[in-house]
Amino acid sequence: MDNRSELYQLAAQFLRQLEERGEAFLLLENINLADYPGAQAAAPEAGKAPEAVKPGPELSGQPRPGESLEAFGARIASCTRCRLHESRTKFVFGAGHPGADMLFIGEGPGAEEDRQGLPFVGRSGQLLTKIIASIGFTREEIYIANMVKCRPPGNRDPRPEEIEECNGYLLTQLELIKPKVIVTLGRFSAGYFHGSPGAAMRDLRGQIGEFHGVKVVSTYHPAALLRNSNWKRGCWEDMLLARKVYDQAGGRASSGAVYRPGN
Ligand code: SF4
Repeated sequence: MDNRSELYQLAAQFLRQLEERGEAFLLLENINLADYPGAQAAAPEAGKAPEAVKPGPELSGQPRPGESLEAFGARIASCTRCRLHESRTKFVFGAGHPGADMLFIGEGPGAEEDRQGLPFVGRSGQLLTKIIASIGFTREEIYIANMVKCRPPGNRDPRPEEIEECNGYLLTQLELIKPKVIVTLGRFSAGYFHGSPGAAMRDLRGQIGEFHGVKVVSTYHPAALLRNSNWKRGCWEDMLLARKVYDQAGGRASSGAVYRPGN
């Protein structure tokens, strides 16, 4: 392979990455193969887009017109935007009601979630089901997603660059679901949705934030509650606040009642 062909292949690879990131429009319009004479072997007809530059799986963070939440999830399931795809077993898009008025957002899939391809299915998930039930909902009435959709190895925290790469997908989920209230689980999602990355949970709990017009309430991650049961009381108070904000925002009635000691 001569130097020009090699350069062309590098350029094509770069363009494919832009395409995956939904940024191809920045450059593709200005590409002219006449500027790449060494590319002729890969593109037999000069002036026509070569095979290598054709979009691969379309992985832009934007839904197609009329695309359902489920179809969007299926389309991005083979994402390789960040290194987390290398160690995942299954991509974990989210689960629940596609038009839920309440959306729970954790940090990233754990080992069991990675195995099953579903969010919050391990011990933390069982506790989350109880937390959701304490304010009258079943898991089918709400929606659950994570900041990143592939498991960080060894259950480490997701890195800022991984959150940044995955962020477009979560924003599209928000756009398609259109919740009235977001409940964040753990400090990563709390910091992000309150616009205070790195803030401590104690500074964000009890606050009613707003993210693109959607109310935000924050509580502990269920995994943290499993490690420290003293925080369960605080979590219940956070959930009462979330339910109050939900009712004030006109959220649909739940199938169950809010748990209060004695009822
Ligand atoms: S974590 Fe998100 S951005 Fe990274 S590979 Fe998985 S789906 Fe893609």
